[in-house]
Amino acid sequence: VKQRAKGHSEFFSEEIQREIVDTKRTADDILRGIEQKEFISFYQPQFDARTHEIVGVEALVRWNHPTKGILAPSHFLGIADDLNVLGTIDGIILDRAIADLEHWNTLGLAIPKVAVNVSARRLNDRQLIDNLRTMKFRPGTVSFELVESVFLDETDEAISSNIEQIKELGIEIEIDDFGTGYASIVSLLKLNPKRLKIDRQFVAPVLISLEKRRLVSSIIDMGKSLGIEVIAEGIETMEQAQILKELGCDVLQGYAFAKPMTSVDLERFVEQHQWRQAS
Ligand code: C2E
Ligand code: MG
Ligand code: MG
Ligand code: MG
Repeated sequence: VKQRAKGHSEFFSEEIQREIVDTKRTADDILRGIEQKEFISFYQPQFDARTHEIVGVEALVRWNHPTKGILAPSHFLGIADDLNVLGTIDGIILDRAIADLEHWNTLGLAIPKVAVNVSARRLNDRQLIDNLRTMKFRPGTVSFELVESVFLDETDEAISSNIEQIKELGIEIEIDDFGTGYASIVSLLKLNPKRLKIDRQFVAPVLISLEKRRLVSSIIDMGKSLGIEVIAEGIETMEQAQILKELGCDVLQGYAFAKPMTSVDLERFVEQHQWRQAS
């Protein structure tokens, strides 16, 4: 028995050893990837539920890896955060998004604004505000998507002061994955966000669960009465879209309409969409 237990623990330590080596390798690779400008932005359009016009796009980071291809955030975001470079990646995506938006405007494409995801680290960064001041964008064309966990510590003066200054710069605040975190509704609404994004986990079952439908409906009604726009994300079918529209949701986003895509693919998508809208 003793023999087996020993073998067992050696097995685990080998496994853990391998994981540590893997993580270390990925970490080195991420730093190299940042140097090599391999982190790029995909964009997913968002649509007005009534007019079907494109009201904006969400920027979603991808790692254009030299051997592994295009990697989604789940492959690297956690390690990037541990490495303290998630803020750097957020900054790369914001720079890119602002430049791309400018480019789309010069092409005459109807893309009014871009939303970027902002990590807690970046929101806490002392240099964030100075950094934002140097950037050129028109007020109301850029928004920051923040998840609830960012606001967990209600007493954090630095965060709320940063958020006030961000708003003063003309950047809108959106609560991402609304309903999945542990922040109180009071603390979230104190921020006076421009938009709430209802998480996919509530959107997916609207057709089959009356309970989830009531929940989504009450979030939308709350938004309406407070003057906060509501977006549903992760809409995969036209049936889901129809229900959300009937419940009064303002903006729709999901695979049912368009997947996240490269900037070049988005240009083509928007051109065709504009053409269809016009005809
Ligand atoms: P999120 O901000 O909630 O973004 C929505 C995620 O759902 C994206 O995954 C998007 O590709 C995916 N999605 C969109 N429509 C559908 C749909 O109809 N069905 C399904 N199943 N999924 C859909 P993605 O791109 O893998 O990003 C995952 C998360 O990574 C994001 O969740 C966000 O929290 C984070 N993230 C992405 N880009 C950045 C970034 O630049 N900075 C930071 N800090 N986080 C980012
Ligand atoms: Mg988001
Ligand atoms: Mg989300
Ligand atoms: Mg999410």
